[in-house]
Amino acid sequence: MTDHWKQWATLCARLASLQSVEALSDPKKLKLMDELDWITHAGGDFGNHKAWRRAQRKLARREALRELCGEVLPVVHARFRDILARLCAGEVAFLPRDEFPTPFWTVKNGVFEEGHSGAEPVQFYLWHLYQLFHVSRRFPFGRCPVCGAFFVRVKRQRYCSPSCAYRGIEGARKDARREYMRQYMANKRHAKKPRLSARGRVSRKP
Ligand SMILES: [Zn+2]
Repeated sequence: MTDHWKQWATLCARLASLQSVEALSDPKKLKLMDELDWITHAGGDFGNHKAWRRAQRKLARREALRELCGEVLPVVHARFRDILARLCAGEVAFLPRDEFPTPFWTVKNGVFEEGHSGAEPVQFYLWHLYQLFHVSRRFPFGRCPVCGAFFVRVKRQRYCSPSCAYRGIEGARKDARREYMRQYMANKRHAKKPRLSARGRVSRKP
């Protein structure tokens, strides 16, 4: 994965990890929207999306972002969170066709090209997520079993952070110890019974 896709994956994980974007302060929302906008534009391989960019430049960028914060950010957040949660849990994520921009085909200098037109911002971000899945050889996300945060997996990483890893491993160790004690006590009880009955039989004999 190139740096661009790594940055994008990290942002997706961070966005999806938020419980809700409505709870964020306005400056935080604006910053998040700014990052979303900045990173996805850096990809720059989006046919007609340039038109949207131009239109956006016409408006004051900040105004455009503020508008996106209200209408687009909550939808993008909800979709990303739902999709990642499903995929990380091994479930199926369904994507209605109208969530994607319409592809169009052209041949330029004898080379086939596919572009996408009429991208609404939400469609555009979802398309960018889809492209991330395409360029990554392995599914790039994991979900922390301790705190529920999403993260970009490095190798077989299971937890989002060292502190969650500690809590997770410690918890697993306690569970294992509890289970061991449960088994141990059960075995002891089980072992006692035959001994008692054996003694009982012995005492009954004479
Ligand atoms: Zn965690």
